[in-house]
Amino acid sequence: MTHPLIDLRSDTVTRPTPAMLEAMFQAPVGDDVYGEDPTVRALEAETAARFGLEAGLFCPSGTMTNQVAIKAHTEPMSEVICEQTSHIYLWEVGGIAFHSGASVALLAGDRGRLTAAQVEAAIRPENVHYPITRLISLENTHNRGGGSCYALPELAAVAEVAHRHRLPLHLDGARVFNALVATGQDGREYGRLFDTISVCLSKGLGAPVGSVLLGSKAFIAKCQRIRKVMGGGMRQAGYLAAAGLYALEHNVARLADDHRRARQLADMLTARSYVTEVLPVETNLVIFRLADAMPAEHFLAHLEQRGIRASSFGPQLIRFVTHLDVDDAMLTRVEAALAEL
Ligand SMILES: *Cc1c(COP(=O)(O)O)cnc(C)c1O
Repeated sequence: MTHPLIDLRSDTVTRPTPAMLEAMFQAPVGDDVYGEDPTVRALEAETAARFGLEAGLFCPSGTMTNQVAIKAHTEPMSEVICEQTSHIYLWEVGGIAFHSGASVALLAGDRGRLTAAQVEAAIRPENVHYPITRLISLENTHNRGGGSCYALPELAAVAEVAHRHRLPLHLDGARVFNALVATGQDGREYGRLFDTISVCLSKGLGAPVGSVLLGSKAFIAKCQRIRKVMGGGMRQAGYLAAAGLYALEHNVARLADDHRRARQLADMLTARSYVTEVLPVETNLVIFRLADAMPAEHFLAHLEQRGIRASSFGPQLIRFVTHLDVDDAMLTRVEAALAEL
């Protein structure tokens, strides 16, 4: 293969650029379990500031930031309200049951988005038969929903329900920067609505590793112990945090390019007769359905032979993801490959 591989499977596949690696090499570090890594502290403070929350906790993955938060918010025999295709439920190995002993109230959203009325109706009344509702969790952008975004008034309405019922509101913001860039929202507005936010650095932002959990000082202090029991206390993690700081500084505004390329891919797909449906594209995810006459294995093998990788996302469902390592020349190659089918 003379051309570079076009990896559209996920925005997690990016490699650090030379400039990001240089920032990592230069990072001052210390033992973060002793609270002595200045670069980790800087990353936690910078991420918290972007969302107007008090404190942050650097973790190896977004699964860990979500599961640490859920454990801190709940107890066994309690319940988390979330969408039925949310990452915390579908793709975190049943961690809510495993780590927290909690149940889930699964709601069917509109491309992953829940309404305030749906959430309110799922809050358990006092009754000895029921688990106690302890947490409401939203996802923005919504992965399985095809990168869909909430409008701010929708988030505010859910937050109003949460506050009225004295329930904490968590955001799985693995791709929250995609949502901010796509909608023009300000992260600090999120800090007013959500009690806790999980932000991934290793998705569209292009860092090799890491997520940050945000919340109040007291909440994050509690989470430090939970991260430790999960084995997530890291030592000279500043080398990794430096990549995150670099990403926050350099790779946020450019997410708009990924969104533009995702819309271009959606247009290419809409033009093909063997594609029956393309979910509306709001950010960097493109989910589409193939006609039965075009078996998904055949479609994926055809792309693979041309150095293009994509993910199977369910029967006849495929996902394309744009990211830092996808450029305009690659889109031209994808278009040609699609046209040959
Ligand atoms: C990727 C992702 C996560 C976290 O995944 P990790 O691979 O554990 O970092 C959480 N939520 C959503 C919506 C995601 O897409």
